[in-house]
Amino acid sequence: MRGVVFQGPERVEVAEVPDPRVVEPTDAVIAVTRAGLCGSDLHPWTGTEPAAAGVVCGHEAVGRVVAVGADVRTVTPGDDVIACFTTSCGRCGPCREGLTARCVHGQLLGWAPPGRPAEGLHGAQAQLLRVPLADGTLVHRPGDISDDAAVLLADNAPTAWYAARRAEVADGARVGVIGLGAVGLCAVASCLALGASAVVAVDPVPSRRAAADRLGASTSAPDDEGLVAAGLDAVIDAAGPPSAQRLAAAMVRPGGIVSIIAVQTAEAFGISPVTAYDRNLTIRAGRAPVRAMLEEVLPAITAGSLRLPVEEVVTHPGLPLADAPEAYARFAAREDRMVKVTFAP
Ligand SMILES: [Zn+2]
Ligand SMILES: [Zn+2]
Repeated sequence: MRGVVFQGPERVEVAEVPDPRVVEPTDAVIAVTRAGLCGSDLHPWTGTEPAAAGVVCGHEAVGRVVAVGADVRTVTPGDDVIACFTTSCGRCGPCREGLTARCVHGQLLGWAPPGRPAEGLHGAQAQLLRVPLADGTLVHRPGDISDDAAVLLADNAPTAWYAARRAEVADGARVGVIGLGAVGLCAVASCLALGASAVVAVDPVPSRRAAADRLGASTSAPDDEGLVAAGLDAVIDAAGPPSAQRLAAAMVRPGGIVSIIAVQTAEAFGISPVTAYDRNLTIRAGRAPVRAMLEEVLPAITAGSLRLPVEEVVTHPGLPLADAPEAYARFAAREDRMVKVTFAP
């Protein structure tokens, strides 16, 4: 099969690789119909997060089951499924508590530790994907949503929902969202679905602010002096750098919540202990448990309270895998009007 293979910083190549197959009795193999290119795919690409070369990239996949192991019970060949971006068993302590992203048996799709490619999993940007712990990791895809909406359900949309839940967004809340990429725009939609009365969306890129505006947020550039002392109940950091955390801390009221959802690669928070103490802040961070969040997100979509902002987010849908090297470079360069690329393998 063909797949996008990580070869080192700023190097991915489209190559012929062995077809994945069922290895463990709890595995499934899916034929990928859509795979996402995610902001966190850029951390190995830029070199800020070391990763093994020779591994197929990507962790966001939807597709059709083509093979299952003997112990798989919840999916069968022919089923249309969403693969959560981390595998989870559904039975360990963290899984039972809803922290499926920290399953004791879980792995991240499309990543392996540096120099040890056999210790990780090949990823989603390929024609076929092996999914371990299939019963706990694969979710049946709602029949009435598009491929690109389904890809958002593999990571970005439930990740944003988690950020909003950790920000304790409820009726009447006034919330900020910093960073209007795929997760940030989905976070705007999530906050409004959860009852926020005002969402202040912050990004330096005008086209991304315009997208948030169309979703119902008010918008600002990060250097807008009015943001400081905005007195919001909570701010979601979907950008990541310490400067975004500092801005988030300045935007919340005393006792407010900073909900950090962006992948972290720094050694220290941008918020000082003095600031956290003096303003009685609650600071939360961590990888989203997508499998658990889908238990809330899918019903919210069905009920019509959450509308996925697919048109605003998936600006480059269904590219061929052959375009991946160029797409990674353009995405890393923060090309204007490129929020999210999806591939049609
Ligand atoms: Zn992702
Ligand atoms: Zn588990």
